[in-house]
Amino acid sequence: MTSRQSRSSVTDKASSEGTGEVWLCVKCRKEFKDSNSCLLECERCAEHYCTKCMKIKDTEYDFLNERNDIHWYCDKCEPKVLRSIQLDKEIKKKLDIFWAKVDDRMSQVNKVIESVKENTNVKVQAVMDEMKTIKIDIQGQSNELESLKKELKNEVKVELARKT
Ligand SMILES: [Zn+2]
Ligand SMILES: [Zn+2]
Repeated sequence: MTSRQSRSSVTDKASSEGTGEVWLCVKCRKEFKDSNSCLLECERCAEHYCTKCMKIKDTEYDFLNERNDIHWYCDKCEPKVLRSIQLDKEIKKKLDIFWAKVDDRMSQVNKVIESVKENTNVKVQAVMDEMKTIKIDIQGQSNELESLKKELKNEVKVELARKT
């Protein structure tokens, strides 16, 4: 058997028993009625093909029926499906490259954010230092003021003492 992926959903018992449905092979135009009709449904175009037209052996057909994970496409659809699988792969590859770039960008942005944070900390530190200096200045000025007051008081005392 080739690597062609196959499956028949037509022969699912639930969908075919007692419904009186009839399936037509698009190649030989033969009608099939029961659940063991040996028909394959293309998963892309949903057309039906009999195993004779598709030259699929009974054992292969049974295998395909047992495996629901295997997909089957008709001759017309298979090349298109393969092409789209290939496109999917190409798109995935492009997406991988895209995401790698995004990751790269993100780490760059993070680096910038980190450096901004550091700079901000430096700035905050500088402001704090300045505040301290201002505080010391104010403290110094009020100390000066205190001593001025004291001096004034003393002078007043001296003046008063002189007058009496
Ligand atoms: Zn047929
Ligand atoms: Zn098809």
